[in-house]
Amino acid sequence: MAKMTVKEDICKGCGLCVEVCPKKIIHLSKEKLNAKGYSPAEVLEMEKCIGCAMCAMMCPDCAIVVEK
Ligand code: SF4
Ligand code: SF4
Repeated sequence: MAKMTVKEDICKGCGLCVEVCPKKIIHLSKEKLNAKGYSPAEVLEMEKCIGCAMCAMMCPDCAIVVEK
């Protein structure tokens, strides 16, 4: 199963990964704030991730790691 991980303290909550994900499973956290004060991206239904890595390619801060 594919797994996407966000380095939360690098994420600036820009939402580009949210837009690009073909499965629409990335959201900006409604509960967490990172050390910079941003709502980090998170995946709630990881079982739907297809490991396409579009999110990782789109992230301007290289905050996403995708493992297949
Ligand atoms: S790897 Fe693809 S399917 Fe998985 S979270 Fe990233 S953009 Fe979405
Ligand atoms: S694209 Fe990168 S910086 Fe922007 S919300 Fe997603 S993980 Fe955070």
